Amino acid sequence: MNKIMGRARILLILILVLALGTSFFVGEYFIKSGDWILFAGSPHIYNAANIGCGTITDRDGMLLLDMTDGRTYAENVQLRSAIIHWLGDRQGNISAPALSHYAEAIAGFDKINGLYAYGGTGGTVTTTFSAKVQMAALEAMGDYTGTVAVYNYKTGELICAVSTPNFDPDNVPEIAGVPEFEGVYLNRFTQSTYTPGSIFKIVTAAAALETIPDILDRTYTCSGLLEFGEDRVTCERAHGTLTFKEAFARSCNCAFARIANQVGGDVLQRYAQQFKITEAVEFDGIKTAAGSLSAAGEMPVNVAWSGIGQHEDLVNPCRYLAFLGAIANDGVEITPHFVDKITVGGKITYQASDESAGRIMSSHTAQILQEFLRNNVENYYGDDSFPGLKVCAKSGTAEVGGDKKPNAMFTGFVADENLPLAFIVAVEDGGYGRQVCTPIIAKILEACKAELLE
Ligand SMILES: [Zn+2]
Repeated sequence: MNKIMGRARILLILILVLALGTSFFVGEYFIKSGDWILFAGSPHIYNAANIGCGTITDRDGMLLLDMTDGRTYAENVQLRSAIIHWLGDRQGNISAPALSHYAEAIAGFDKINGLYAYGGTGGTVTTTFSAKVQMAALEAMGDYTGTVAVYNYKTGELICAVSTPNFDPDNVPEIAGVPEFEGVYLNRFTQSTYTPGSIFKIVTAAAALETIPDILDRTYTCSGLLEFGEDRVTCERAHGTLTFKEAFARSCNCAFARIANQVGGDVLQRYAQQFKITEAVEFDGIKTAAGSLSAAGEMPVNVAWSGIGQHEDLVNPCRYLAFLGAIANDGVEITPHFVDKITVGGKITYQASDESAGRIMSSHTAQILQEFLRNNVENYYGDDSFPGLKVCAKSGTAEVGGDKKPNAMFTGFVADENLPLAFIVAVEDGGYGRQVCTPIIAKILEACKAELLE
């Protein structure tokens, strides 16, 4: 009897081990099979470093890249150059994280059927980019170094995002050691950070609106300079006595130095965090560079410069674009994306959602900022630059030191239900923000209007 019990026990243990082993394998399969099949270097899916199947198109179905047989880029040289930072080059100097992020969906792989689409040409990735607007953006940037992007603040769709300099992947120029190609492999929209200058006054104004109840009734007198012991904050000229709204429109440094200190360094820092200003943005397998701000625990002069967008302030263009989108969208931020959907043989293997990052400020604060930003264009910058559009914006001229001209910055949005677009322009070594950036963004918004409305 004891012998039989002993054998039964051993048998039971063996059955348990088998069951555990099987479920471990099935579990591993479901978690990791995608990686096993699609590991970089798998000869079935990849050629060299690139995924070896699938095509990528713009929002209207225009071909941007065919990966079936090597890499066939768009026919148009401007388009090839304008889009390269999203698709990558043949040498792998410019990486395209989204293409590997969606490798399973592009290859048509799933856990049950395996590589059901393999043997075909792979899937079609429809992006949210407009080839026409992307080319218009490239042309508008001319020889400037920097980035410009436009996205729909209600859906998150990126309509265009160009980083300059760039190059034609079908005709790669001599790049090493050539000054005008410095940083050419960087997607400046996602991978760079910039000293924001006065466009950061939007953050300071938002924090002031949320924390100083009578801020709209306060006035600030600017004599052209404000002293902090040995240090001083200056304006180009004396602005006289200004309301909060006027100080924002005139971009008065002396007023904003005071406002930043009335808010306080610690509180300014906390609100910048709440607005996600220094956080990376994550979308389509991409994680952007993170910004920085050091206002907390700082001396008043440093808090002043932080609130003006200098000191140690750095912003990532994609993040700041999303912040402006949130203001336009009554305080709710919609995360940008550029992969709209992926289909394989008529089956949708990926579909973007209008991913919301949630409310970052009260709708009341957002609406006052909308009014302020609209006032800037209507009464100070001039609506005539943007015919037929209700543009809300703030310019910035960010000192970067050395012998370089300031970064020219310009950001805002169109207040129109049918054309809900937010934008950002950053031009390195550019000069005055408004002067340099207005013609650039005006041309791009024209192209957006033609693409999306007409
Ligand atoms: Zn001033």
